[in-house]
Amino acid sequence: MRSVDIIIKKRKKEELSREEIKFFIEGFTRGEIADYQASAWAMAVLLNGMTARETTDLTLAMAESGDIMDLSDIVDIAVDKHSSGGVGDKTSLVVLPVAAACGLPCGKMSGRGLGFSGGTLDKLESIPGYRVDLSPEEFKQQLKDKGIVLTGQSLDLAPADGKLYALRDVTGTVQSIPLIASSIMSKKIAAGAQAIVLDVKVGLGAFMETLEEGRELSRLMVDIGNLAGRKVVALLSDMNQPLGDAVGNSLEVVEAIDTLHGGGPEDFREHCLQVSTHMLVLGERAANLEEGRQMAEAAIASGAGFEKFRVLVQAQGGDVAFVDDPRKFPPARFIETVNADCSGYLSRVHARLIGEASVNLGAGRARKGDPVDHSVGFVIHHKVGDQVEKGQALFTIHANNPEKLKEARESVLQAFKCSDSPVERLPLFYE
Ligand code: URA
Repeated sequence: MRSVDIIIKKRKKEELSREEIKFFIEGFTRGEIADYQASAWAMAVLLNGMTARETTDLTLAMAESGDIMDLSDIVDIAVDKHSSGGVGDKTSLVVLPVAAACGLPCGKMSGRGLGFSGGTLDKLESIPGYRVDLSPEEFKQQLKDKGIVLTGQSLDLAPADGKLYALRDVTGTVQSIPLIASSIMSKKIAAGAQAIVLDVKVGLGAFMETLEEGRELSRLMVDIGNLAGRKVVALLSDMNQPLGDAVGNSLEVVEAIDTLHGGGPEDFREHCLQVSTHMLVLGERAANLEEGRQMAEAAIASGAGFEKFRVLVQAQGGDVAFVDDPRKFPPARFIETVNADCSGYLSRVHARLIGEASVNLGAGRARKGDPVDHSVGFVIHHKVGDQVEKGQALFTIHANNPEKLKEARESVLQAFKCSDSPVERLPLFYE
């Protein structure tokens, strides 16, 4: 078999066999198939798609490209959650500690920013000292001892996805249902999760812009999970506007800490409560959604969720002084609030434009391996449906470079649209 023939076959919209997919993924993992060939293949998949059978084979080939973790001797049901990626999505920082505080051991491997969407690892690394490179042994030990782990994808688990993810980020090959489904599910299968809550984002700031695409991605991932013997729930949630107010690494960590203290933006708090409720039910700690909800609310109200976050940060070497006093996070050099240039009802707060502008400020990467700037980003002061007056604060920019500050001001103003007549608020969840 030759890798170039497999690329050409996909370019011609033909179906790849299990053997061809396995050959390509194994060769890529070993470094025998070059990055440029994998990029060309990913582009062919993005343009021409894959059948459900090819996607399942791709998922299993990527999961089997490294070790598969077995957590059954540590926890009765290992529960994981995964978001398909969005703007301002800091949900993991809240739902893992909340669910863990309710007695559900949670171990998760997260990713870095991808395209315009932020990544949990980049956010966590704004806490000085926080380690995101735990080995599978450290992962297991911490899950056993502390009941919570939030780390990077171990190089030994689904390494094919780790390599492909970094390439896709910078080659315009993120937005493909089979590539996203196989990327997410291969990691979940390899990381040993027995039950998974999938948070599938839909809208302008998601990789799936329409509800139909979101449903297709959800169904595919649920089917792949079930085939692999996992319990899976998929929630379709809104990503037309950013989730919560903060977009940018340390700004989002601070917002997550506020939320764990019982504050935080209303939409984000509600989103976290619903995701943690599903985790508690799937992990059999709550008999039903009402009970799960009460448990999650109580974990926030009592401070047990925050305490669990503190335990997590300490266990992974992070400086808890930052968690205890978020004013310690170094601010960006330039902080500027931009006011509304219209009066009326907000009909659009375009999440992708805001996500792209935050990448441009330095919160994400332009090229594979670029460093990120933890202090830059935005705080968005209004949601779709809010009534605003001309001159009222719309958003605040946190930048470290005057030129970028100017660009951010111009591009993020375009994200907002005003209407003369009242506009309905966006739902948090569609299905
Ligand atoms: N999240 C992932 O883990 N992979 C993708 O491809 C997109 C979002």
